[in-house]
Amino acid sequence: MRAKDIILKKRQGQELSDKEIKFFIEGYTNGDIPDYQASALAMAICFCGMNEREVSALTDAMAYSGDTVDLSMFGGRSADKHSTGGVGDKTSLIVAPIVASLGGVVAKMSGRGLGHTGGTVDKLESFPGYISSMTSEEFLSQVEKTGIALIGQSAALAPADKKLYALRDATSTVDSIPLIASSIMSKKLAAGAHNIVLDVKVGSGAFMKDEESAEALAGTMVSIGKACGRNVRALITNMDVPLGKAVGNSLEVIETIDVLKGKLKGDIREICVMLAANMVSMIRDIDTAEAAALAETAIDSGEALAKMKEWIEAQGADASYIDDTDKFPKAPFVKTVVSGTDGYIGKMDTEKIGLAASYLGAGRIKKDDEIDHKAGIIIEKKTGDFVRCGEKLATLFTSDEALLCESEKAYLAALTFTNEKAQKKPLVIKTVK
Ligand code: URA
Repeated sequence: MRAKDIILKKRQGQELSDKEIKFFIEGYTNGDIPDYQASALAMAICFCGMNEREVSALTDAMAYSGDTVDLSMFGGRSADKHSTGGVGDKTSLIVAPIVASLGGVVAKMSGRGLGHTGGTVDKLESFPGYISSMTSEEFLSQVEKTGIALIGQSAALAPADKKLYALRDATSTVDSIPLIASSIMSKKLAAGAHNIVLDVKVGSGAFMKDEESAEALAGTMVSIGKACGRNVRALITNMDVPLGKAVGNSLEVIETIDVLKGKLKGDIREICVMLAANMVSMIRDIDTAEAAALAETAIDSGEALAKMKEWIEAQGADASYIDDTDKFPKAPFVKTVVSGTDGYIGKMDTEKIGLAASYLGAGRIKKDDEIDHKAGIIIEKKTGDFVRCGEKLATLFTSDEALLCESEKAYLAALTFTNEKAQKKPLVIKTVK
C-alpha cells in the first residue's frame, strides 16, 4: 500500500477501504507518512467527502492511535460534553460542576483557543496555580474524589488528531464535515465517557455557518458514537451572537462564577441548563425537563458553586478567587466602544468579534502565541438591542495599549445596524439523538 495511491483514489472521488484509512493514519502518526501527504489527503477529503463507513473507519483509526482512558469503573455515570467552538462559550466551566454536583462523573480533556474561538483550558488557567496537565493516575484519582477533573489534551490521547488538527489549521482544511466529525469523536471515544453531549454551534461565529451543515455534522457524530456503544446526543445551538457578555479568559471565568452564584440569568444560564440537563437525563435515565429542573436547583442551592470550588482547589488553584472575583488581575488599558449611529443591532459577525478579542491578546492568532488572561471584551449591546449615537456598545480590555485601535475597528466592523428590530433566534435550535 502506498500513501500516494490512497490520495489519488480519494482525489478521484472513490471510496477508501478501512485498511487504507488505518494504514494512512498509522503511518502519519508514527512519522512514516509526511505532513505534505497528509495535507493532500485532507484537501481531497474536503473536496470529495467521505461516506458514513469511511468516517467511522477514520474516527476509529484516530481514536486508537494512542492511549485511551478507561472510565468503566464509573458505570453509566461518566459524562462528557464537547462544543464545536464558539465565541464567549464558557459552557463547560458551568456545566461540569452542575453535572458533578448531581452525581455525574465529568472526566474531561479540553482544548486551547485558536483563531476566533476560545479554549476552556486557557480560561481555567486564569486561576493562578491551575494544573492543566497530570498523569492518568492523578487524573482518575481526582475524578474519583471530586467527580470532576478537566485538563488539556494530552499528547498520548488521540495523537493522530493532535497532529492532523494542527496541519488542518495551517492548510485551510478545518471546515469539512468528515474531518471535524472524526476529529471530535476520536477524542471523545479515547477519553472514555459513556454519555456524550455534543454542542454543535451554527452561525456567524461557528465553523458551520448554516443549519443544514450543522445538522449533517451532528447526525454524523451521533451515528459514530452510537456505533461505538456510547450514549450520544447533539444539540444544535445558535452562534450568530456571542454567548453571554464576556469574551476573554478571566472575564469569562468571572461571568461563569456569576452564573453559578445565581446572579446572572439570560442566554448563558439557559444554554448551560439545557446542556447539563441532557447529560443528567442520560446518566439518570430521566426526561430532559426533569433533569433541567435538577440543574436549576443545583445552581440556586449553591451546590454547583460548591462543586466548582472543590474542583478548582483539587486542581491546585486558589478557590478564594471564586468568593472574591475582584482578586482576578485587571487589564491596565480599557477602552469604551461607542455607536456612531442610532439604530437596532441587526447582526453581529461573531467570528469578527472573536478576532477582535484575540487582537487584544485574549486568543492566539498563531499556535504558539502567549495568552493575556486579562484581555477581552465585555459586550453591552447585542443583536436586537436599540442603541443611540454615542451610547456604549462594548468595553475592551488589554495589557498593551497599542492593540486597542485594531480591535475597536474589528469590533465596529462586526456590527450591522438596521431600522427594524431583528427577530431573536432560539438558543437551542434542534436536538439530534
Ligand atoms: N474541534 C475539534 O476538536 N476538531 C475540529 O476539527 C473542529 C473543532
